[in-house]
Amino acid sequence: MRHRLIIAGGGLAGTLTALAFAARADVDVTLLEAGPHLGGRHTWSFYATDLDAAGTDLTDPLVAHRWSGYDVAFQGLTRTLSTPYRSITSASLDRAARARLGDRVRLGTRVQSLDAAGATLEDGTRLGADAVVDARGPTALPGLALRYQTFLGQTVRLTAPHGLTRPTIMDATVAQHGAYRFVYLLPFSADTLLIEDTYYTESPAVPREVLRERIALYAAARGWSIAETAEEEQGSLPLVLAGDHAALWAAAAPPDGPVPAGLRAGLFHPVTSYSLPFAVRAALRLAHRPGPVTSAALRAEMGAIVAEHFAATRFERLLNRMLFLAGRPEDRHTILARFHRLPQPLIERFYAGRLTALDRMHLLAGKPPVPIAGALKVLSESAAR
Ligand SMILES: Cc1cc2nc3c(=O)[nH]c(=O)nc-3n(C[C@H](O)[C@H](O)[C@H](O)COP(=O)(O)OP(=O)(O)OC[C@H]3O[C@@H](n4cnc5c(N)ncnc54)[C@H](O)[C@@H]3O)c2cc1C
Repeated sequence: MRHRLIIAGGGLAGTLTALAFAARADVDVTLLEAGPHLGGRHTWSFYATDLDAAGTDLTDPLVAHRWSGYDVAFQGLTRTLSTPYRSITSASLDRAARARLGDRVRLGTRVQSLDAAGATLEDGTRLGADAVVDARGPTALPGLALRYQTFLGQTVRLTAPHGLTRPTIMDATVAQHGAYRFVYLLPFSADTLLIEDTYYTESPAVPREVLRERIALYAAARGWSIAETAEEEQGSLPLVLAGDHAALWAAAAPPDGPVPAGLRAGLFHPVTSYSLPFAVRAALRLAHRPGPVTSAALRAEMGAIVAEHFAATRFERLLNRMLFLAGRPEDRHTILARFHRLPQPLIERFYAGRLTALDRMHLLAGKPPVPIAGALKVLSESAAR
């Protein structure tokens, strides 16, 4: 028997889920996207070590840029790590996914409502299905104590080569402005790069004009003259300090509703807000699950994925409480600086959301980079509620 699967939202999680299911001959996938192409306007980056072999196979055709390592810079620390780094752009995702999915993608199709048995489109059309996945992007995340990673990034063409050969994931040598601030650089070609000004902060607001000005100042300080700003992206992404997983899941996945995916399901790294590795793993796990493809079955599987993710990222939430609650905002960079002195494999496991018990002990060993009294106060999640 063939199963009809509707996925609403052709962003990151929805497209990855559709690609993962496209390999199954017993499933008819339909991917509904409101926009004129898949993926909106984004650059999604990840470490190659975030993914296992199956995840690499799924994402490889989508990748637009690859580097063999990256740099970080803090006061008193510059380091090159040899972990390969990759970026997928909206354009590369759209091109590769539409080539693979063909007429299973329906663009310009806005969903008005979803339930476990199908989708109602804005024009009133009803599409029935055995399974329905809701990947329509971020929504409120009840039950979580949040702070924010706010940023504005510009892809700029310079009048002369920038001289970078690999990304700078964090240049935190910049003025901190009462947050944890760093500049993120992705060199796309000899004279084109993404310059992103990022803040770990209490407020989700993105002061766009201020950040544009700071990007211009940063470029000038590096001796770069901007010929043209080709693209701009901005965001305010959630950082989780504490949370009630049951409340989050109850709101995200009501009993007769669709199966939530992506940010909507709370599947992102609490400290970086990156969702790509978690979206890849969830897509593959749903698609490889034996048995019928129904909303009830996928909902049960996704519920288990989200519960495991929440349990596995307990330590990352503690790190956020240390960052935001234990010390002074202007000292936040010292915590990240200390972290980036650790062995590379541990840093890789941290970003992949795969810390071991030994890693956690290693991370907590030695003198804490925040006042001890402050650190003790935030050990419990209740400190952030
Ligand atoms: C600017 C920016 C940069 C980021 N960079 C990274 C990064 O480098 N690495 C990383 O891992 N994470 C990154 N993130 C975080 C996160 O991975 C992204 O937000 C990711 O796109 C979330 O995936 P998603 O599928 O949940 O939502 P989205 O990718 O936002 O997808 C939602 C899709 O649903 C569609 N949609 C919405 N409503 C409807 C409707 N009613 N009907 C039909 N379609 C609808 C939207 O048009 C959109 O295409 C970034 C986020 C932002 C905002």
